[in-house]
Amino acid sequence: MGLSAEHNIEALPARITWIANFIPPYAAWMYQNLGERLQDFRLLLSTGMEKGRTWAPDLSLPNTRIQRTLSWTYQSRHPNGFTETLQSHFPYDTIPLLLKEKPKVVISSELGARTVQALIYRLLCPATRLIVRATVSEVSEQGRGGVRRRLRRVMLNHADAILVNGQSGARYIRRFGVPLEKLFTVPYTTDTTALTRLPLEKPPEAALRLLFVGQLIGRKGLFPFLEILREWALRHETRTVNLWAVGTGCLGDSLERYAFPSNVTVRFLGAVPYGNLPNVYAECGLLVFPTLSDEWGMVVNEAMAAGLPVLGSLYSQAVEELVRDAQNGWCFRPDSKNEMYSALDRALNTSESKMSEMRRDARKTVAYLTPSYAAERVLDAVRFVSSQRGANERLGSSLNENLEFRRWRPASRAMNCLFCGHSAVMRFQRNDSFIWECTGEDCGLEFLHPQPTDEQLSTAYASLYYPDRGPQRRVPFENTPVEVLEQALDCLTIRLGNLNGLELLDYGCGQGRLCALAARRGMTVTGIEPSNTARMQARGSGIVVFGSLEELIRSVPETSFDLITLWDVIEHLREPWYDLRSLQRVLKPGGRLLVSTMNTRSLRARIQGPRWENYSNPTHTFFFNRHSLGSMIARTGFVGTEEWILPIRYPQHGFLRRSVHRFLMATSLNAEIVFVGTNDRTPDENPSSDSFPVAANFNSNYRI
Ligand SMILES: [Zn+2]
Repeated sequence: MGLSAEHNIEALPARITWIANFIPPYAAWMYQNLGERLQDFRLLLSTGMEKGRTWAPDLSLPNTRIQRTLSWTYQSRHPNGFTETLQSHFPYDTIPLLLKEKPKVVISSELGARTVQALIYRLLCPATRLIVRATVSEVSEQGRGGVRRRLRRVMLNHADAILVNGQSGARYIRRFGVPLEKLFTVPYTTDTTALTRLPLEKPPEAALRLLFVGQLIGRKGLFPFLEILREWALRHETRTVNLWAVGTGCLGDSLERYAFPSNVTVRFLGAVPYGNLPNVYAECGLLVFPTLSDEWGMVVNEAMAAGLPVLGSLYSQAVEELVRDAQNGWCFRPDSKNEMYSALDRALNTSESKMSEMRRDARKTVAYLTPSYAAERVLDAVRFVSSQRGANERLGSSLNENLEFRRWRPASRAMNCLFCGHSAVMRFQRNDSFIWECTGEDCGLEFLHPQPTDEQLSTAYASLYYPDRGPQRRVPFENTPVEVLEQALDCLTIRLGNLNGLELLDYGCGQGRLCALAARRGMTVTGIEPSNTARMQARGSGIVVFGSLEELIRSVPETSFDLITLWDVIEHLREPWYDLRSLQRVLKPGGRLLVSTMNTRSLRARIQGPRWENYSNPTHTFFFNRHSLGSMIARTGFVGTEEWILPIRYPQHGFLRRSVHRFLMATSLNAEIVFVGTNDRTPDENPSSDSFPVAANFNSNYRI
């Protein structure tokens, strides 16, 4: 036994992450069981516990993390005639967390935003596998809209396996064209140790006592059932009926005011801690479960383990799967008054010897439903998806190519990081050159090597950025829109206070847009721009522009600035660390350096790979992410390096694109990153022209 268990561990993938809403108390054992059987099992939860639940959150499981989540409630109307308040959770950091933790297999609960994100991760990393746990039944999914159905079709068909909790769920999933071999039934289970210890013999007063356990809400169907109970009691005046109700909910008050006949006594117990439920089951004879819709119905497992036959609605998968009429319970459809009355009548007229038999049958029926059984079914699915090598080739073949290419590490080609000297690996080929990535932990810089010649660059700039053949010519790489620069200045005002009177140097100022806008806000502006065409245009609008830093220092020797900006410029430089160090010379003590660039860890860059426009742009020589940009600014002598999140709105974006942009900002997958460093040196300490070859390097290399 021990040997085979070890063998299983060896055969299963190293890291498995399960993403779920929250852990209801009954489910904790299955997760715990999986944690014990897998080498590296992690849980990502949207919330510790949903609002309105009386359960206490249990976060004692190892490797559990609560995600950054937006939660909201909404009213949902079900065709079976009830309205309920539901909670939705949008754990918006799912993709970045998965990309960081890199699980081999992701199990994602429910067919919502969480699973959409898990699917994106699956598409980004084709070597991974996605298992979706769809806890649904045909009844629970009635009345779902067409958009949701289409979205589900996409998710279900891209998933590598689907976990359902019963046959009704399997039938529902099969409607989307999912093949049978991808379906794995993982029933809801709980630890029933305390329940199965309860005696099966009941004192006479408890033998026919009805028990309801659940939320006191419309969906649970209590009112229609009470109508039937009332009718039965009025027709059987000599009998007395006892009902205990455990739970809270919005219908609590109206239930307590309900006019029962005198031969019906009802006791509302309110919320009972999960661990105390066995004591309640011990005092009752049968479970009433009249639900109008339940994708499972955990109380059915619990009651049967405690030896209570179930008077239950077939609109619950648990009843459909586990309860057999007249053997361990009585079944009915809750929208049929006759069926419900008949089932209740038969239940309350069951002889004591028959009840005793049914109690034994109930307990025996659910004996196999243990947490380790459920965990074993989950592992079946994990083994299945792990064996599907090279499956799902249809999932974006170009994506696969990109990522495969990325994994190619040519052994014969040695390359060191141009900045830190650490070894680098090849990422992509670009024309006759290569894009490399530094493997240094505190660097990670990506760079083009070999770099294009000055002539090649010159041609590229002329055709891409500053065409001088007339205004009708299309510019493939647009300069930053004015509106975006205005917003950046707004942010600067918030961070730095009044900009009026501050000295700004815009390094790589292009046609001088940022300078012009800053001047309008009272800043004294200077630009540096090596492109002759652009420099002339900037000067045309009255801005002081130099061709290089060297030229600036020569012309105005004592000059220094409060703020130096490199707006989408650093990726164009030949040796950006020289520029940053040189610029520190003309930055006042306490002055700020602001660098913006495109993020190689953005969603678009990850999806497009070498086709990402910032990789393919022939004028780009360096490529940054948060880490490598912050690192370079810090290592070139700036202090207090920090990222500024600019809530930039792009004017041409509609509502959807703005929302996507906000989402990407929140998840660190946005395209534009802005870092700021501070100069804490006094002028004497500033690097001199002796220690750094100021501008000489810049001048010879960054020329159009
Ligand atoms: Zn490096």
